[in-house]
Amino acid sequence: RIGSRLFHNKPELWSKHFHAPALDGHKYDRGHAVVVAGEASKTGAARMAALAALRIGAGLVTVASPKDALPVNAAHLTAVMLREAEGAEGLRSLLEDKRLNAVAIGPGYGHGGETAAAVEACLASGAAVVLDADAITAFRNDPERLFRAIHGSVSGVVLTPHAGEFSRLFPDLAEGGDKVAKTREAARRSGATVLLKGTDTVVASPDGRASISDGGTPWLATAGTGDVLAGLITGILAQKVPAFEAASAAVWIHAAAAHAFGAGLIAEDLPDVVPAVLEQLF
Ligand code: AMP
Ligand code: MG
Repeated sequence: RIGSRLFHNKPELWSKHFHAPALDGHKYDRGHAVVVAGEASKTGAARMAALAALRIGAGLVTVASPKDALPVNAAHLTAVMLREAEGAEGLRSLLEDKRLNAVAIGPGYGHGGETAAAVEACLASGAAVVLDADAITAFRNDPERLFRAIHGSVSGVVLTPHAGEFSRLFPDLAEGGDKVAKTREAARRSGATVLLKGTDTVVASPDGRASISDGGTPWLATAGTGDVLAGLITGILAQKVPAFEAASAAVWIHAAAAHAFGAGLIAEDLPDVVPAVLEQLF
């Protein structure tokens, strides 16, 4: 604890909520995470997120994509399942299956005209939702539209902006100021748990709690590491961990994986190091 409702991001903060699978557990007890992928040429981000969700312990993971991206995903994924879902309507019908209890959208999705509606379909589904990358950028001209959809959702929502994405949703908070204070204000305004990335990642809950991370290594400053983080959060949310604890746990594990790997890290190494981190944790 650093101050009033401000905590160091350490396992003590979230280990009551996120722990090893039960001895007699079933895969369905550990939830079913969905990662929404975009068109065929940009699916790597969703695949890395899906592997991260599986490694962190989600019982089942599905990558949902437009039809043209199914073959490329099938060629690179084995334990991850594939489903076709075209746009907002495709996601709405996919997510009618209430066993799909956590969804990530944004990495490699594209931020064109239909993206906002696709995000709204996820938020209306009742699943916990992680919004990253293009799912954030899609609302740059109308952040209030996103906040309305978040306030209307019944499950946990986590927004995972880097500084640039943060400035698109919260332009008045972007320049200067205390990072904890502005992440808290963003959480209050949006109604989501907000995870503001950087060397010292801050997670803030709309209820006023915040955590600050000691950080990973500068090797995390490489393409795709944020997509892996989104997958980790989604996999933890699938295991029914509340949003603030899920986001904080994912940030800590992501940083620990970077430390464990050391120099030369690239994003696709991260899911493979997660088991060693979990071995220490559990
Ligand atoms: P993104 O910007 O979405 O690709 O996410 C990058 C990820 O790497 C986030 O988890 C950041 O917190 C982390 N990161 C980026 N640069 C650094 C750095 N210099 N030191 C530690 N972590 C970093
Ligand atoms: Mg990113």
